[in-house]
Amino acid sequence: MPDTNDICPKCGSSLSEVSQTPTGRKLRRCSQGSWNPETKKTEGCPYVLWLPIEPTPLDEKCPKCSSPLLLQVTRYGKKMKKCSKGGWDKEKRQPTGCDYVEWISGTTERLDEKCPDCGENLVLYTTNSGKKMKKCSTSGWDKEKRLATGCKYVYWLKSGEDRAATGEEFLPPSKPSATD
Ligand SMILES: [Zn+2]
Ligand SMILES: [Zn+2]
Ligand SMILES: [Zn+2]
Repeated sequence: MPDTNDICPKCGSSLSEVSQTPTGRKLRRCSQGSWNPETKKTEGCPYVLWLPIEPTPLDEKCPKCSSPLLLQVTRYGKKMKKCSKGGWDKEKRQPTGCDYVEWISGTTERLDEKCPDCGENLVLYTTNSGKKMKKCSTSGWDKEKRLATGCKYVYWLKSGEDRAATGEEFLPPSKPSATD
């Protein structure tokens, strides 16, 4: 039975499968809409359903109250760590519980590439200043010992090298191949 969530509220057509942007946001586009890369405009129905982004539990403790931290991604792709004890009182319009929030500078995007050193997935890390590097998803930082952990593979992208990825967020979820 078709769910009403699967129907475009603008034109009544069905929605396409869930697709994901490089920043991890999930969306469903109307099946009657398509992206024209030449005009950089949507043709047909422009409806896009953005799916809510679920916070991810982190293996880190809140420095204020020692509750687990959550990784929350905003609608605009900004990331923050927040305390799982924190909440928002909609009536009083004020935060409740623990108010610990740490904005994460720079973003990490999962890549479909394997690390040449260890075979794990690579991630694309974008710093606040917009510099990009590929690094191994197993790499981390031990705050106490102040040491890098995991795999050391890092590859800095020269400016322009990532141009193919720029704007990918606005492309259709899947485009038909050019071969007949
Ligand atoms: Zn539609
Ligand atoms: Zn807390
Ligand atoms: Zn590696």
